[in-house]
Amino acid sequence: MANYYPKKRRKIRYNNLAILLAILLLIILIIAKGCSAIFGNREPKEDEPAQPLTTQDLAQDELPIDQNMADPTSQRYYTFSSVTLTADDLGTGNLVLVNNNIAFKGQVTEDELDVVREKKNNAYSVKDYTVLVRPEVMEHLNTMLLDFYNATGSEGVMVNAGYRTLEYQQELYDEDLAQSGQDSSSLVAKPGFSEHHTGLAIDFTVYEDGKYDQSKIGTGDYAWINENCHKYGFINRYPLGKEKLTMIDNEPWHFRYVGVAHATVMKNYDYCLEEYIDFIKNFTIRKGFLQVDTDDGAIYMIYYVPMSADSDTTSVFIPVKDKDTKELYPYEISGNNVDGWIVTFQFKAPDSVPTVLPLTGDEAPVPDGEDASLEDGADNTNNSEE
Ligand SMILES: [Zn+2]
Repeated sequence: MANYYPKKRRKIRYNNLAILLAILLLIILIIAKGCSAIFGNREPKEDEPAQPLTTQDLAQDELPIDQNMADPTSQRYYTFSSVTLTADDLGTGNLVLVNNNIAFKGQVTEDELDVVREKKNNAYSVKDYTVLVRPEVMEHLNTMLLDFYNATGSEGVMVNAGYRTLEYQQELYDEDLAQSGQDSSSLVAKPGFSEHHTGLAIDFTVYEDGKYDQSKIGTGDYAWINENCHKYGFINRYPLGKEKLTMIDNEPWHFRYVGVAHATVMKNYDYCLEEYIDFIKNFTIRKGFLQVDTDDGAIYMIYYVPMSADSDTTSVFIPVKDKDTKELYPYEISGNNVDGWIVTFQFKAPDSVPTVLPLTGDEAPVPDGEDASLEDGADNTNNSEE
């Protein structure tokens, strides 16, 4: 019985312990609450290690989602879904970078292209049935040249070139070498290294007074196209002053489709495609999206996803618009044709779809020589051209 403690004494000890624990718990709670108030809304910092994101990182329950937050350029505004891509996908999309140093990695077959002669409206003409472009180019080309016609009344624009096969580029290249007597060409891109392989590039010329004149593009009424093309997703690909970056002389007549959001940024910052593809690497899911407000009232978010260095596949995360239905924001993914992908999603739709007034009346501006050129090939047009 020596170890017996009176019941009363034991009860007092437990009471003291409970009070002490309660006080400790209270202090811990107060400290924890203070910390979360300070750090709870912390934005990801640029100097955070750029670890590859995993599905778990972005799982719905893992991130404090708050769609009332003011900043939709932050990943914390969203939940994400993902698609898996491989190196084979680098050459697909509207933002592939192709130049004298970077061969086109993509594959284009003619059956996925539109014949401009069959799909065009009457606001312009086209060289012949051999001019092919990607469907997204076709659609925006029609709108742009219709607006150009309505703005200026000019019927002179002719689409002179679109998609080119490797074989055709080889012909152009060999012809240029034969003419110049040089070992390499500063006018015609090597086969495989021409933007025209993508189906996203077009050349214009002007047909006026029975003559073709490519040098008129960018001057007079035709300058309207160079000044407004970004609204339709086109850029002037080889601008004056960027020759060292593009490695091609200024070509006011060569346009490249990249999409409205990207063309708008390039216009605003005066970037050529080489500069833009570098610039866009500053925007990632961790660092935050690039927000682009376009002239039509739409809002786009843009970010870069580098190709995984240690896996054959890369998970590209796409924001979910509706958590219940899992519907995604409308999005596009494009490879940069080098080392990663650019994701563009439409955060807000355009204010209204602009009404396009179709041209009425007779088949309008078709130059006399156009159908003849079906037989002559390119002989009556100016082909000085990368
Ligand atoms: Zn061209």
